[in-house]
Amino acid sequence: MTMVICKECKAQISTLAIACLHCGATKRKSPNYAVVAAAFVGLALLSNTWMLWRLYEVESRANAGEIAHDAQGGHGRR
Ligand SMILES: [Zn+2]
Repeated sequence: MTMVICKECKAQISTLAIACLHCGATKRKSPNYAVVAAAFVGLALLSNTWMLWRLYEVESRANAGEIAHDAQGGHGRR
């Protein structure tokens, strides 16, 4: 559990606590845009990688002839 210093009374409070246990001050942090942006980029990269991986897997399976039933003419025109 991580502890932070209360801005009001300088007491140590848990990051999980919504308000300071000692003075009741709420921890109103300004949103960390760097973290939000990093998370967004990470998510985008992850989904992109996942989609590419799925495409690759479908293609390799189609090449192996395993999903001939699913592919029925859908592939093979390129
Ligand atoms: Zn406090």
